[in-house]
Amino acid sequence: MGNFIRGYAFDIEPDFDYEAEIAAKNQSNEDAVKNPRVHRDRTKSVSITDICVFTCMCPRMTYYSKVVGRPLSPETLLRMNMGHEVHEIPINPDGYEVSFEYDGINCRMDDIDMINGWIADKKTTSSKYNTVKEYPEKQLNMYRVIAEDNTKIPFKVKNLFVVNINSSSGKVSVLDVPIWNKELTIDFMNSVRATILEHTANRILPKGKSGWWCESCQYTDLCEVNLAMDPSAVEAHIGSDEVNEPDLINGD
Ligand code: SF4
Repeated sequence: MGNFIRGYAFDIEPDFDYEAEIAAKNQSNEDAVKNPRVHRDRTKSVSITDICVFTCMCPRMTYYSKVVGRPLSPETLLRMNMGHEVHEIPINPDGYEVSFEYDGINCRMDDIDMINGWIADKKTTSSKYNTVKEYPEKQLNMYRVIAEDNTKIPFKVKNLFVVNINSSSGKVSVLDVPIWNKELTIDFMNSVRATILEHTANRILPKGKSGWWCESCQYTDLCEVNLAMDPSAVEAHIGSDEVNEPDLINGD
């Protein structure tokens, strides 16, 4: 007897339930989120991922991730795990997965070169792109502000790159990302952050924006009936920051 994954039959490992494995992984994620050591209220802070998801994908998804904070869906976890593989390989071993803090915003950049002044972000994609997408353009320009204006390890940024890794063909392409006016970037970052905090502090549900991301959204039941809170949640508003930012757009 074969095993079934979304309608496909396999004649191997008849007792192996892959979806159960993913669910178990998801559960361990949830347990980690509830662990007091990582327990924190995400409604009072905003990350670069929050700003990018709010403006490039679905504002409502950002809201729910902070106010409701459910574990990631199995589909999102799978996408993230594929992204993790490529993030294991540094472009610059001397500036790889570097954490920064700026004005209450924490982020971790994939690859930086503080001497030559560049920041690169890796994306796994399902299509070939010749132009820079909105998400990495915003993300990298905000990274530039953080890199230059943080107090601990500031450095001047001359170039921003997005490194697209095609998940079907394995081909890699590198695109130059246009550098924005710095003051406008800071204004953008602060104004979106203020908007997100206003929504979360007052439990005002923003409008949703449908897209490919709805398929793996863990809040569709709340979204469908426009609920601002999860009525069954014991610990609403608890979430984890342990989300690898670029992998959220792998389905792009
Ligand atoms: S279901 Fe779609 S529109 Fe609704 S919150 Fe999720 S991503 Fe946004």
